Amino acid sequence: MRIRRLKLSGFKSFVEAAELRIDPGLTGVVGPNGCGKSNLLEAIRWVMGESSPKSMRGGGMEDVIFAGTAARPPRAFAEVVLHAQTSDGEELEVLRRIERGAGSAYRVNGRDVRAKDVALIFADAATGAHSPALVSQGRIAAVIAAKPAERRAMLEEAAGIAGLHVRRKDAESK
Ligand code: ATP
Ligand code: MG
Repeated sequence: MRIRRLKLSGFKSFVEAAELRIDPGLTGVVGPNGCGKSNLLEAIRWVMGESSPKSMRGGGMEDVIFAGTAARPPRAFAEVVLHAQTSDGEELEVLRRIERGAGSAYRVNGRDVRAKDVALIFADAATGAHSPALVSQGRIAAVIAAKPAERRAMLEEAAGIAGLHVRRKDAESK
């Protein structure tokens, strides 16, 4: 899977709608401290279904919504759209939106889906919110300190078989 474009609106410091093209050859994002580089990586993890506010550097999930500044009022919602091309060459558009007091909603290619469906798409493509392809600050130290079971989970995610556990749990509960 190849991520092609990322659109953000009201997400963290990206208060105005912003679009980022991720062309082959892009190797880095540079900018002064606090300009939003890490927020971009978090937007990718968030639209892939990240459910832990702590790993988004927030106390609650609504903390991803632009909180306002002295000059700008807060936003009522945050939205991230990720465009990708699957390994079969198909176009994939994943949208996640969160509204204050209303929780998150997801859409894949224009259709309403559950968080679980989004997580499965990325798990099957051996990527996703916890994929080793997205290395956030402190992650290297966390891998070194991880317990064997946690390390196995990372390897399973990398191998693209993490989705099988979800499906087995589903099947067992039926
Ligand atoms: P560094 O080079 O220090 O790693 P960075 O470019 O990675 O910086 P980020 O951590 O992505 O910067 O961005 C931090 C900025 O995002 C801070 O200015 C912070 O106030 C802002 N920010 C984070 N969450 C929100 C929010 N909910 N509303 C408004 N601004 C936010
Ligand atoms: Mg940073």
